[in-house]
Amino acid sequence: MSTNNSSVSQRTLQSLLLKRFGMAVGTYGLITVLLWVAVYNDLYRGALIGATTFSGLAAVSQLIFLALFLRGDNLRFRDPSLTEAQVMVGVILLTCLIAQFDTARGTLMMFYVLILMFGVFQLQPRVFVRCAALAFFGFALVNLWEGYQMRLSDPGLALMQCCALFIALVWQSLFASYVQALRQRMRQRRYALQAHQDTLRGMMRQLEDLVATDELTGLYNRRHFLRLALRELDNLAPGRQHGLALIDLDYFKRINDVHGHAAGDRVLQTFAAVGRACLRDGDVLARYGGEEFVLFLPNTDADQFTSCCERLREAFASAEPVGVQVANLSLSAGMTLLNPGDDLDEALQRADQALYRAKRGGRNRCDAAWESTGA
Ligand code: GH3
Ligand code: MG
Ligand code: MG
Repeated sequence: MSTNNSSVSQRTLQSLLLKRFGMAVGTYGLITVLLWVAVYNDLYRGALIGATTFSGLAAVSQLIFLALFLRGDNLRFRDPSLTEAQVMVGVILLTCLIAQFDTARGTLMMFYVLILMFGVFQLQPRVFVRCAALAFFGFALVNLWEGYQMRLSDPGLALMQCCALFIALVWQSLFASYVQALRQRMRQRRYALQAHQDTLRGMMRQLEDLVATDELTGLYNRRHFLRLALRELDNLAPGRQHGLALIDLDYFKRINDVHGHAAGDRVLQTFAAVGRACLRDGDVLARYGGEEFVLFLPNTDADQFTSCCERLREAFASAEPVGVQVANLSLSAGMTLLNPGDDLDEALQRADQALYRAKRGGRNRCDAAWESTGA
């Protein structure tokens, strides 16, 4: 289940990353179109082969990234969006392109900011500054090299462009670190919220257990039992039967009167312990009220159910409650079977009549009323 969830979230992440990649490719496409417009307007001063090489390199670099995304190889990296690599490649290609321009250099400069925008939400501040530094020093080096070769047409303008780029990149770096701090805070809040949710879920489970359990014996209470039995009856497959028995401890009032209420409580707890030891997982024993209990045995028949109830009766008869000297413990049980389409209240009435017969018949016995009006 968890593997399924993680593969679904991985697919969602990949489709998100592919969308971001699509945006980057679109930007490359637009810059390439702009380049060729510049070429046809004589703003491009390099050789035509340079423009063609830029277009080719841009296409090849993006094809390599596309292959990484499609093969899922990007997931092996710490940052599967490969943002740093994408930004670095973009900055280097832009710097090579800018070197081929003269008057239009200032216009193209803003693409540094655009490329770095991809990193604002993704890159750690340290990495972002590294990318911004590459952009600034790349641009400054192009100008320095041309200044050194005396090829700069307007050194004053070049200096101003370098300063403007520096200011823009410093501002963008500060903004990126602010965004990252904000994201970190949001992440911490999400974790805290998740922890609160887990605590609440745990408390809900505890509350549900508390509401379903009888405090003295630790068995299910009547309300929870009725809910469980109704659900099981609804799901009862044709041809199958469940066993239902009402169990009443014999002469319990006398135990209370002779040994005290606390001793009576201990006897009730002893019956619960005997029941837990005798029954299998899936069998349900609940406190129906006072010294009355109800037993539900899924998928059984008259013989199996009778022997189960007899086993419980005998085990209780030989039980010795700790710290109480009570002799002759016994119980009486009224048994019935639940068939598909049966009414639970009617079945409980049948079991009650059988219990009444067991009491009348001398107690310490199990009587049955199997007949059912079900379909
Ligand atoms: P019978 O064999 O006919 O069932 O007789 P009985 O004495 O068991 O039945 P009766 O209904 O006369 O008495 C049941 C007693 O169970 C009365 C009540 O005070 C006692 N009782 C009910 N709940 C508790 C409980 O939680 N703890 C204790 N100690 N006694 C309880
Ligand atoms: Mg009773
Ligand atoms: Mg009783």
